[in-house]
Amino acid sequence: MADRLAELQGRVADACASSGRDPGEVELLAVSKTFPAEAVLEAYEAGQRNFGESRQQEAATKIEVLPGDIRWHFIGGLQRNKVRKVLSSFPVVHSMDSVRLLEHSDRIAGELAVKTQVYLEVNIAGEESKGGFLPDDLLAVGGTLVGFAHLEIRGLMVIPPEGESRRWFAETRILRDRVESATGLKLPSLSMGMSGDFEDAIREGATIVRVGSALFGHRSYMQ
Ligand SMILES: *Cc1c(COP(=O)(O)O)cnc(C)c1O
Repeated sequence: MADRLAELQGRVADACASSGRDPGEVELLAVSKTFPAEAVLEAYEAGQRNFGESRQQEAATKIEVLPGDIRWHFIGGLQRNKVRKVLSSFPVVHSMDSVRLLEHSDRIAGELAVKTQVYLEVNIAGEESKGGFLPDDLLAVGGTLVGFAHLEIRGLMVIPPEGESRRWFAETRILRDRVESATGLKLPSLSMGMSGDFEDAIREGATIVRVGSALFGHRSYMQ
């Protein structure tokens, strides 16, 4: 595990170097969904602190038994009825996909007295099968994104169509710039890139890459 983690960090550093970026700007999120707590602990012992999970219940069983200084990121579809549980154990949520969900989460975060970092998930290619804000919708709601007291909107998150991800990473960065100038919001972060394409994501400006199988191995089922 320590070797795989070091190798991944090396690939992140190389992608930064080849695109003239400071490696300190890019965070590696270890996506541990479907893998047991023991695997998380091995990565933890090798120095990893940020882990991503996509199901609240599965995550809860791991969070309970793992060190308290792990920073958990929620990356899966977030249902309204799970918001309270998710916000109580995840300081970062990558999958905010509607204004309603943001408003609801802001209220719950207030009740829990937490400040949650969030990413706005975008359906950058307008795919039927995917959730997330459509680019035009995001620009249209721009103004309502300012003023959440208990959420810190960090930036955009994307899962691009397979096969042509680099182009869509670039589109996501351009959309981020447009939303920034339309709203005055600062959106410094881009959550993009997975095991198969994180180097391209870094070349297009990713600040956090979500890597699962390249670190933990193949998942026995998809999630
Ligand atoms: C599973 C998942 C990942 C990690 O995928 P790998 O291909 O295993 O690196 C990243 N982001 C999201 C949203 C995921 O659901």
